[in-house]
Amino acid sequence: MTFSMLLSLTDSLFFALILFPSFAILVSLSFSAEQNWKTKVFRGLVYLGAGLACLMHTHTFAPGFYLDFREVPVALASSFMGTPWGVLIGAALSLYHWLILGQQGAAIASLQLASVVGIAALLRRSKIKIGQSLKQRAVYAALLFVPSSAVLLLNFVRAPQAFSVAAELYIIKVVFSITGFCLWAALVSLARQTVVSNRRYQRLATRDALTGLHNRYAFEEDQPPLSPNHPEARFLLLLDLDHFKRVNDEHGHLYGDQVLKQFSKVLSAHLNERSRAYRVGGEEFAVRLSVKHAEAQHTVQAFTQQLQAALAEVQRKHFSSLNFALTVSGGLVAEGEQAFQRADELLYLAKGAGRNQILAEWQPRPEALPPSPFNDASPGAATIRSLLRFLAEQGSDEPDLPGLLRAAILCVPGAEAGSLSVRDGEEWVVRGEVGYGEALLGVRYTFSQMQNWHGDLKQLQQGQPRLLTGEALQLHSQRDVEPPDIPASVRRIQEIKANLLLPIVVQGKVVAELNLDNLHDPAAFGSTSLELAKEFALWAAAVMAAHERRHQHQADQESALLMLGLALETRDGATQGHTRRVVELSSALGQHLALSDEQLGALRQGAYLHDLGKLQVADRVLLKSGPFDAEEEALMQRHVELGTQLAEHFPNVSPDACKIIEFHHERWDGAGYPRGVSGKDIPLLARIFAVADVYDALVSERPYKAEWTPEAAIWEIVAQRGVQFDPEVVDAFVELMDDPHSREPSHWAAPDTAQPHS
Ligand code: GH3
Ligand code: MG
Ligand code: MG
Repeated sequence: MTFSMLLSLTDSLFFALILFPSFAILVSLSFSAEQNWKTKVFRGLVYLGAGLACLMHTHTFAPGFYLDFREVPVALASSFMGTPWGVLIGAALSLYHWLILGQQGAAIASLQLASVVGIAALLRRSKIKIGQSLKQRAVYAALLFVPSSAVLLLNFVRAPQAFSVAAELYIIKVVFSITGFCLWAALVSLARQTVVSNRRYQRLATRDALTGLHNRYAFEEDQPPLSPNHPEARFLLLLDLDHFKRVNDEHGHLYGDQVLKQFSKVLSAHLNERSRAYRVGGEEFAVRLSVKHAEAQHTVQAFTQQLQAALAEVQRKHFSSLNFALTVSGGLVAEGEQAFQRADELLYLAKGAGRNQILAEWQPRPEALPPSPFNDASPGAATIRSLLRFLAEQGSDEPDLPGLLRAAILCVPGAEAGSLSVRDGEEWVVRGEVGYGEALLGVRYTFSQMQNWHGDLKQLQQGQPRLLTGEALQLHSQRDVEPPDIPASVRRIQEIKANLLLPIVVQGKVVAELNLDNLHDPAAFGSTSLELAKEFALWAAAVMAAHERRHQHQADQESALLMLGLALETRDGATQGHTRRVVELSSALGQHLALSDEQLGALRQGAYLHDLGKLQVADRVLLKSGPFDAEEEALMQRHVELGTQLAEHFPNVSPDACKIIEFHHERWDGAGYPRGVSGKDIPLLARIFAVADVYDALVSERPYKAEWTPEAAIWEIVAQRGVQFDPEVVDAFVELMDDPHSREPSHWAAPDTAQPHS
């Protein structure tokens, strides 16, 4: 091939070099849109156009020898779009050749196109990819064009003298087809990369990395077109998680992140496809809502309620270790002028009115609470919360009601005085006071006075706190809210400047009411006060409920034991009231001796059951009114042993209570029965019980003796100090009896007709 021949080629070569980039750019245009059948057809047409353009600028190398690059678009269509496209485009180009360029060389040219399509199909099948680097593409193109262009050599058959022309043409075709293919593929891949990274950057710029929601930037850019004829109503909802800082502070930022993620999920899950959620700040979200016009306001409000319920569910499922409720506040407005500002205002109003509410602009606005000088960031808040938790964990048998009130005053900013009333049947009785004087304790209120003081029965029953200040408070105090006979020294309702009433609800029943007062400043209670008060009410309810359960359990147990004791008395016929009296007397003596709660419980149990064994003593012995003979005496004494055995079978009777049954007839000097042990070998509870038991027998009338006076009975007990009874217990007993109230409690000192044999 001469240089002049090469020059003459340039027309076609030069054309192909200009042509290919232009067509490659056209192909890449189809990447930016969504991929569908239209883009495929578009791309197919571009390849076809490129092939036809090549044909139009074909160079007649020698008669019947055409030089152009029609194979390149066909190879690209086959490789990138699939064999059918290659076949289609190849067939169209061959047809063009037959019709326009004539028959000469047409068969060979068509065969060459067919082999390009065939080899491309083979390569696809063998999973040989075009690759990303220049070298990989060149190798792929060589695999395509080196064998397929060899078809040209068949011209040798047609004209043996033209072999050298065919060989030259083969080399030129292979070299330039590979070049053209690589050039085109590089341009297309460059364009595709640009499109892909554009899309990625667009996503990065408009999405929030943590939650995947649209971000603030997208929110600003995304202003929806506001057409008055739009068939849907549009709303803007701004949301802010309540006390989110606390989530982070108490459980760490990673935990906080999880909360944000889950909340975003819930938010997205509740939206229809025409609505969109954005994270516009740390824990602030915006939702553009689009809903059907009919009942639009109702629909969006229902949406906010679902959202709040779903958030509670999320907490239950994923964040149950959070020890406060995960809630959200929000503002909901119709889209339009200054929608963001309007929604933001409502959001702040919702926060100020105690949080956990989404206010819509068409609803009446709640009154904002005065700002509190105390905020969550202050170190006091953490202390108070620890105190609340501590209180809830307190397991004492009796809730310390005055202590509960003091804790409430300490916890709720602005509170400086107050009272605590608990329900007692249909009345309320004051059990704690701070700042009013002890005369208030025990004052009783009727239910209607309490209701008047709260002002709203329904809210009272729901446990809603109620804040009264200024005039409203004065108006309230003019109703019937106090008993007329309340001591003058504690009638200070006129001095109260602000009152926060906190109902404490256990199992749907208001069991107590806390009145927290400020006597100086009507604005003393702010929004934080109200929130802490609510939280306090929850903890207090937990304390009261736990107490109630314990109390109920104890009462159940005691009544079962009492039934047993009474059954015994019935059989015994004449010891009525003895059981109850010895339970109360030994309990009083135990308290005087400062026994622990656990010991006192065992003492009461033992007292109830001390004569249990008499159930098994034969009637002829048990009911005998005259003195016993030796055999009867022995049978009677067995009640101790029998009772102990029986009691040991009761699952809830403590071992210490069993010891009372076993040892209650032993004596300090060792002359008792059944074992004759002495001194401190007798368990303490049995030594205490023995004194109470004997005292009650002495002051009771028995068939063989009259009732003794309490004084005479005490003298007898004292005479037995160190003989029958433990001296220390006797001393304590005497001290107890010195208190006239202890000495004559009607329920245990009343004489009865007891048998002498216990
Ligand atoms: P309020 O009820 O008044 O909204 O109280 P708040 O504690 O929710 O509000 P505040 O603005 O005081 O605190 C917001 C907190 O949100 C502070 C910040 O630590 C936290 N926060 C913001 N962005 C992120 C985040 O991406 N991850 C986590 N874990 N916390 C975040
Ligand atoms: Mg915030
Ligand atoms: Mg917040």
